[in-house]
Amino acid sequence: WAKADGKNTWAVYDRERNAREVARFSLSARMPAALEREEFYVDYQPLVRLVDRALIGVEALVRWEHPEYGRLGPDQFIGLAEETGLIVPLGKWVLRKACGQAKRWLDRFGDKAPLVSVNLSARQAGEPTFVSDVAMILDAADLPAERIQLELTETAIMATTGAPLEVLRSLAAMGVRIAIDDFGTGYSNLTYLRHLPVHGLKLAGSFMHGMQGRDADPVDTRLVDTVVGLARVLGLEVTAEGVETEAQARRLLEIGCDVAQGWLFARPGPPEEVDRLITRPE
Ligand code: C2E
Ligand code: MG
Ligand code: MG
Ligand code: MG
Repeated sequence: WAKADGKNTWAVYDRERNAREVARFSLSARMPAALEREEFYVDYQPLVRLVDRALIGVEALVRWEHPEYGRLGPDQFIGLAEETGLIVPLGKWVLRKACGQAKRWLDRFGDKAPLVSVNLSARQAGEPTFVSDVAMILDAADLPAERIQLELTETAIMATTGAPLEVLRSLAAMGVRIAIDDFGTGYSNLTYLRHLPVHGLKLAGSFMHGMQGRDADPVDTRLVDTVVGLARVLGLEVTAEGVETEAQARRLLEIGCDVAQGWLFARPGPPEEVDRLITRPE
């Protein structure tokens, strides 16, 4: 309906921008109550060992069942939560949920229980009480620290206020595994990485596009090859994210990638879906 003349077009842009601002404001204003009313929930996406596709872990991914807007993904609210600081209680809530679920899997399946990986934002890791909060949450869940992994992007590590290295060292000393998330998308400082107490790298899904059959981009494939080689040198486990096709999975296995995550294996879903994967006959 908008006329093609400049004036009306701008009016439409303005209105859209305004609507976006209102939506952002209403989302962040709603968040504290949403947390209290448990409108958030956690889905789990399987991580499989590439050689035999055994389920070895899951990543906890937060979602928001908004009463008006319906289901929202983290990309629609995590950034806002970081701006307002609500990421701190929200992140704690996710960690508590994930640890509770990890404990149920551990009690029910023992050795077959998946490791549970949880995302952290810079703001959370920079909280002075962060390390003791993690210890308290593990303790309350009666869960060994070895059963969880915390994922941080390189950017988040660099942006952590205080002493990120100390925070990571304390967590690692407790027995918590640390993984660098979205590796290859940030400013990868190899010298720094060498001194971080990390156990694994999660290779960003954006590398997967160039890793397929006829459309394969030789540079992408070699980049992944090189990163896997580098991880080897550093003694790190490599997980490929965003694996959608058999061709990618085959290539990753050839290259020597250890673990994969993606729609080829399973979408994120409720814990019951993970139960079914654990109990399915071989
Ligand atoms: P991430 O940690 O890199 O998580 C992987 C994302 O890739 C997830 O998106 C997952 O659903 C998606 N994904 C998995 N397999 C595939 C695939 O085969 N193809 C494609 N195209 N995508 C795939 P999601 O759930 O939308 O989460 C987005 C980001 O939000 C996460 O990226 C993470 O950075 C952040 N996030 C999620 N939960 C939390 C949380 O509890 N706390 C914090 N701080 N951040 C979170
Ligand atoms: Mg992640
Ligand atoms: Mg990632
Ligand atoms: Mg990400």
